[in-house]
Amino acid sequence: MSIDKPGFETLQLHAGTPPDPVTGARQTPIYQNTSYVFEDADHAADLFNLQTFGFIYSRLTNPTVAALEERIAALEGGRGTTACASGHAAQVLAFFALMAPGDEIVASTRLYGGSITQLSKTFRKFDWHAHFVDFDDPAAVRAAVGPRTKALFCEALANPGGVVSDLEVLAEIAEAAGIPLVVDNTMATPYLIRPIDWGADLVIHSTTKFLSGNGTAMGGAVVDSGTFDWGRNDKFPSLSRPEEAYHGLTFWETFGDLAFTMYTHAVSLRDLGPSQSPMNAWLTLLGIETLSVRMERQCANALAVAQFLEAHPQVAWVSYAGLESSKYKALAEKYLPKGAGAVFTFGIEGGYEAGRAMVENCELLSHLANIGDTRSLVIHPASTTHRQLTPEQQVAAGAGPEVIRLSIGLETLDDILADLDQALGHARRMAAE
Ligand SMILES: *Cc1c(COP(=O)(O)O)cnc(C)c1O
Repeated sequence: MSIDKPGFETLQLHAGTPPDPVTGARQTPIYQNTSYVFEDADHAADLFNLQTFGFIYSRLTNPTVAALEERIAALEGGRGTTACASGHAAQVLAFFALMAPGDEIVASTRLYGGSITQLSKTFRKFDWHAHFVDFDDPAAVRAAVGPRTKALFCEALANPGGVVSDLEVLAEIAEAAGIPLVVDNTMATPYLIRPIDWGADLVIHSTTKFLSGNGTAMGGAVVDSGTFDWGRNDKFPSLSRPEEAYHGLTFWETFGDLAFTMYTHAVSLRDLGPSQSPMNAWLTLLGIETLSVRMERQCANALAVAQFLEAHPQVAWVSYAGLESSKYKALAEKYLPKGAGAVFTFGIEGGYEAGRAMVENCELLSHLANIGDTRSLVIHPASTTHRQLTPEQQVAAGAGPEVIRLSIGLETLDDILADLDQALGHARRMAAE
């Protein structure tokens, strides 16, 4: 029997990681190594001129990191991947290839709080400007795109509030404007949705979350679909015009569908430096081996928790795209038929103080700033992850004062429910005092 089109579960175990050709080791070695011996002076020169592929120095790439890159590209259905130090580094790398000073990004108001801060505050130091728009309103997105806009940016399934983006509609807007649609797929993972199949051009990951999956390793990745024509207009000179540092080489002309991935390694990682460590790449490869199994169970647990909370007297509302009551239910059925993710929010009766009391009284659920762990996690975004935002930005991002975010893990479902129930009881008693 031969396999012409391996399934997701096969790829999550095998893509990028054949047995080690030298030792036969079945598990991928951790190449805890910085630099690689050249065959001779000509080989060294060819590598530095990008005339041959190979390893030079681990700031650019490393065999363990390259295995992770290949696996993520296979899972997302992309042409190439650049792994890097964190999800935020992945956003810097993605936009660095697209943007020049004075350029703009049209971004969704529903983004992870740290991304809103990165785009609205820190990117300004590069003279990059983000316009935040309600991505449920295609006319507003279209109207926000101007001559200096270089990307549309959203999350496929948005952190924190279980918001599903209508990627087909957004891809059409980006296509008409001649710019890429950049989609952060951290919350859904390629197991639930592959944004490239719906027209995304670049996919971003914080591999810190569900891909590594056990709360062990920071990491990020940018996946290029390989289908965007960087020479179709003059908007992307980094890719379509000669690069001085490589003797006038033009990435788009020389590397075609690998142009973006080559640029992010050969220029962005080289000069900005946020490379991923081999150890973290290895932990992430290990985590990905069980991605489908974890996501399936975590989605099932999350749906059951969302239903439980929706019926709870202490709970004002639940925002989970898998619920019948969600305004995103139809989009979730279309884009995320295998499950609406494991992270969602709910509103607690009693507002800010009740929210703080509830998270403090969870015993099984860990109160911390992460998602996508095998353990269940809880946080009060308004006093933590979304603290830097204005009250208006908090509400627009789905992180108002009464909002609690959950990331549901793999514990026994009844235990998760019991812990939430007792923590909500504490919050009620504290509010009554
Ligand atoms: C965590 C997160 C990021 C940032 O990733 P880091 O690995 O923490 O830098 C970006 N987007 C989303 C949706 C996230 O959840």
